[in-house]
Amino acid sequence: MTNETNENAAAAARRAEADERAMRRALEEARLAAEEGEVPVGAVVTDGTGKRIASARNQTRTLCDPTAHAEILAIGAAAGVKGDWRLDDCTLYVTLEPCAMCAGACVTARVGRVVWAADDPLRGGARSRFRILETAELNHHPEIETGVLAEEASRMLKDFFKTRRAENRAARNGGGGDEAD
Ligand SMILES: [Zn+2]
Repeated sequence: MTNETNENAAAAARRAEADERAMRRALEEARLAAEEGEVPVGAVVTDGTGKRIASARNQTRTLCDPTAHAEILAIGAAAGVKGDWRLDDCTLYVTLEPCAMCAGACVTARVGRVVWAADDPLRGGARSRFRILETAELNHHPEIETGVLAEEASRMLKDFFKTRRAENRAARNGGGGDEAD
């Protein structure tokens, strides 16, 4: 009994460690997105053995494609690597709670487990605003884990929007004036 409890605890600790490692990689993708002027969201997909098979970042501006969210790109890439559209043995890691579109894609791709860092109270499609991953009428319900490295992920988003607002303000104030330079 005690051994079993210890083994369960050890397995949980290993899983938490693997989750954090994958989320670090997703955060690195998010950081690259910010550098490219994109909203910093990154995603990683690992297969049933825990191996990383895809990583992607938000590229809506770069690709001029409103559907080019990190999750959509990572899911598509992972399916390509596996040669199978079903990702039921895979885990999707993403730095921000999936929107309605991406949560829908998780269901469509039968993603086994979805792990996100920061909640999105405004647009979260997985649980915060729309509960797409928990909708009884849908035929697939991924396992959910949240809050992994959430602080780092939300700080990155806040910094990004703060900088963008400041840039927008500067552009407005500078518009037509000759005080700049
Ligand atoms: Zn999305």
